[in-house]
Amino acid sequence: MVELDRVSKAYPGVMAVSDVSLTVGRGELVAIAGPSGSGKSTMLHLIGTLDRPSRGTVRIDGLDVARLSDRQLSAVRASRIGFVFQQFHLAAGQSAVDNVADGLLYCGIPARQRRQRAENALVSVGLGQRLDHRPHQLSGGERQRVAIARAIVGDPALLLADEPTGNLDSASGAGVMGLLRALHEGGTTVVIITHDREIADSLPRQIHMRDGQVVT
Ligand code: ADP
Ligand code: MG
Repeated sequence: MVELDRVSKAYPGVMAVSDVSLTVGRGELVAIAGPSGSGKSTMLHLIGTLDRPSRGTVRIDGLDVARLSDRQLSAVRASRIGFVFQQFHLAAGQSAVDNVADGLLYCGIPARQRRQRAENALVSVGLGQRLDHRPHQLSGGERQRVAIARAIVGDPALLLADEPTGNLDSASGAGVMGLLRALHEGGTTVVIITHDREIADSLPRQIHMRDGQVVT
């Protein structure tokens, strides 16, 4: 699903990711762990095609990211990749359904179908009773479940999560992890950044980073 071949990402004065090679197979559930500043988010951006590498090759589903135009990359992201972030990134004034339906904006699906699929996705994350709530009317755990619904409404093969439990109490965090595990069991490839040792240890594979490199 993901192939990084000698990938580096340089920012002025820092190699955020340095000469990383790794593959993530279809259907894997993987943790990326490491101290703050070790390059985890940068690597997730590279895998998610939000960023292009300074050097090396990134392949997603066999497609070489460097050979695709920005427009083609957007299409790859819209159709194959879902994102979940620590800060949820929901639109403040919009209902849960509208937030989730936005996940389908670039897939060429008519508005009515977007809404129906958004409702289905919210039901699947246990929020069938919260369709018209706005983010400020939801708990942190519920907001993150809305964000997960938005990430999966387009049925992506690859789900990338950057510290998805970082802003949650442990009970809500466990709920979110349960959802991510269920997606993995349903066949989705899931990559989760976490600095929670317990969460990382509970996943079948851990990639440990330090100073932009994969150490184990
Ligand atoms: P982590 O997610 O593990 O905390 P990051 O990938 O966010 O680490 O950052 C890795 C390094 O790259 C850090 O030194 C950070 O300051 C730097 N960095 C990340 N993004 C940028 C950026 N857009 N511009 C400049 N430096 C950045
Ligand atoms: Mg980070």
